[in-house]
Amino acid sequence: MSRDSISPEPSGAAEPRRLIGVLPAHALGPLERMLDALEQIQPVLFQWREPGDLGGLDGVIVLDQSLISEVPAGLPVLLLSAPGPVVRGGELVQFTDSALLARPLRGRALWEDSGRTPVSLLPAAGDTVLASVDGRPAWWSGGPRGMTVSAFGLGELGERETLRSHLRERRFMGVLVVLQFLRDVCAELNWAEQPLRASFVIDDPNLHRPSYGFLHYAELIEHAARHRHHVGLAMVPLDGHLVNRRAAALLRANGSHVSLLAHGNDHVSRELGRLNTSEAAERAIAQALRRLSAFQERSGIPVRRVMIPPHGACSPEAVTAMLRLGFEGACISRPYPWREEHDPASALDGWYPAELVAGGLPILPRYHLDHPRSDLIFRALLRQPLILYGHHWDFAEGLQALSQAVSDVNDLGDVQWGPLDWIAAHNYSLRRTGELLDVRMHSLRAVVEIPAGVTAVRVHTQPIHGGPHWRGVRCAGLQAPMSRGAGGWSSEPLAVSDRQQVEISLPPARPLQAGALSGPVFKPWPLARRVLVEGRDRLQPLLAARP
Ligand SMILES: [Zn+2]
Repeated sequence: MSRDSISPEPSGAAEPRRLIGVLPAHALGPLERMLDALEQIQPVLFQWREPGDLGGLDGVIVLDQSLISEVPAGLPVLLLSAPGPVVRGGELVQFTDSALLARPLRGRALWEDSGRTPVSLLPAAGDTVLASVDGRPAWWSGGPRGMTVSAFGLGELGERETLRSHLRERRFMGVLVVLQFLRDVCAELNWAEQPLRASFVIDDPNLHRPSYGFLHYAELIEHAARHRHHVGLAMVPLDGHLVNRRAAALLRANGSHVSLLAHGNDHVSRELGRLNTSEAAERAIAQALRRLSAFQERSGIPVRRVMIPPHGACSPEAVTAMLRLGFEGACISRPYPWREEHDPASALDGWYPAELVAGGLPILPRYHLDHPRSDLIFRALLRQPLILYGHHWDFAEGLQALSQAVSDVNDLGDVQWGPLDWIAAHNYSLRRTGELLDVRMHSLRAVVEIPAGVTAVRVHTQPIHGGPHWRGVRCAGLQAPMSRGAGGWSSEPLAVSDRQQVEISLPPARPLQAGALSGPVFKPWPLARRVLVEGRDRLQPLLAARP
């Protein structure tokens, strides 16, 4: 797409867009890939412009300070510096408490390696300083119809880079400033933000006893109740054959504080990453589901249909099998665990609130409890679920690690805690236009409250790599096709009159029943291995207690 010609909308996009001029044309070298990526995530269209040619714009990004007088009054303007040389060791960017800033940023200090270019301007009376470096204003704004100034520049997106790699600690100011400007210009076109959602996940525990390693379930539940959080225990389906009555009673009675998730099937090394044919994947995932159903019958505790792949390893075949067998998502630290050594699938990898992979299964990102919390700020900005995980040994000294994490996460905004399937079912954004509610799903199933006066919903998804494995959308008893557009997939409006809540789902085109598939060939060693690993885990606190 050429930015030099005036085209009101990219082909195929029905969405209204705001027109943003970039002045002067090609001032700072190429920015095409960066602007393309920004057009995919904000309802904007960029056009290179020259001084004297600023008609018809909704906003303008000025790359040369000497041209600022050319901008007509009342046109929102962002004055950006040229990107400066990288600063070794970085500089600390201190954000103010201004309400003009997104909540996760307020009052934060973050390290930035991108260099600044000094601006000769200073904030004027009435301007709000948003961030400073070494006590000097580095980003300020005169409000939505005024001028925003940043000492940081916007760099081009490298050929193999993702936009997300420009929005993380040590490289964020360029994209952050532009995003905030675009959101202000687009105001009423923006999708309404949902509350942030959070959960803890602890890998490996089972219900063979009321404790697992350093983890005592009664204590954990008491902690979750007191600090109002939620813990998902990722249980190996193989372990489901044995249920301790006291452990089961504890979990049954405290479902709002603790839930169970699927953790592989046998938990052998890189288990789901090794399933490299559809048949092997379907047999293994179906066996996991059968084991979990039997466990549920025995214990009375539901296991949420979200998979935590052991060791974060997962093949695309395993993901597709999960989708066909009724899983609602998987939770992994990397959106494409099978692409580690490859280029990203698109510049928007890792940008959405969940990645829809291998036919459309949402991958909810997770993050280790031990990692620095700065990335959570960026996750919160991207409205990604805030899922922190660990193992029983992370609590050898008690549950303080959880207390601290709850407080850090709750500091990021209005945060609600709950199980992962609930997080997946509320991972969407909304935009209302009169009686029509647009729902952009980052999941296979969404539970949506219908505001009074809304008579129809229209369903959207982001692009799905490899194309969707679902067939149309189901909502309030209606089934409708989804058609492909510029920014993903969309349905026609579906009537929802007289409803207060609807469930929207994208059912698999070729569903499978776990009961109808035969299991993998029996091998005794996974059981032997689990017994050994569990024995080791359960011994750890005893050994640690010895003088
Ligand atoms: Zn594990």
